[in-house]
Amino acid sequence: MLEKTLVVVKPDGVQRSLAGKIIQRFEDAGLKIVGMKMVWIGKEFAKKHYTEDIEKRHGEKVRGMLVGYITRGPVVAIVLEGIEAVEAVRKITGSTYPSAAAPGTIRGDFAHMTKEHAITNDQDVQNLLHASGSKEEAKAEIALWFSEKELHSYKTVHEAHVFH
Ligand code: ADP
Ligand code: MG
Repeated sequence: MLEKTLVVVKPDGVQRSLAGKIIQRFEDAGLKIVGMKMVWIGKEFAKKHYTEDIEKRHGEKVRGMLVGYITRGPVVAIVLEGIEAVEAVRKITGSTYPSAAAPGTIRGDFAHMTKEHAITNDQDVQNLLHASGSKEEAKAEIALWFSEKELHSYKTVHEAHVFH
């Protein structure tokens, strides 16, 4: 199933100049960029991205920290397209907590933060990027971050190998 999914290179990823390397991982896997922009979002928008679902899963305090984290600097938002792209992108991204993310994943290779350290020091888990967690999340997040006009339809050379 051909799917679209959202990736956001978070402020730590941008500030560490890792945006290019992060995007490269997805391009290398044959995922197609169909939308991309740099934005510095505000708190209201961030609350629409980190919805009440986050509060249910991690609590109100963590949601507040996340809103602070993602609005700390500009981010690069990208829509990627590919076969079962949501799962493929999550796999390349790696586990939420970088210490638990496997080597070879973006979070495993470029960060080492633990959940315990974040909790003990009362800080957010800086894990470089956001990637939609499910098909439903992807749909809602793409609609939030991109207008129809900002999403493009074109052919990559790679597609000749995927659809033949
Ligand atoms: P993912 O980013 O892998 O989809 P979640 O959606 O569960 O993970 O959480 C969103 C973000 O919240 C994570 O990327 C991480 O930055 C942050 N986070 C998760 N758990 C905690 C925590 N216990 N303390 C602080 N921040 C957290
Ligand atoms: Mg998530």
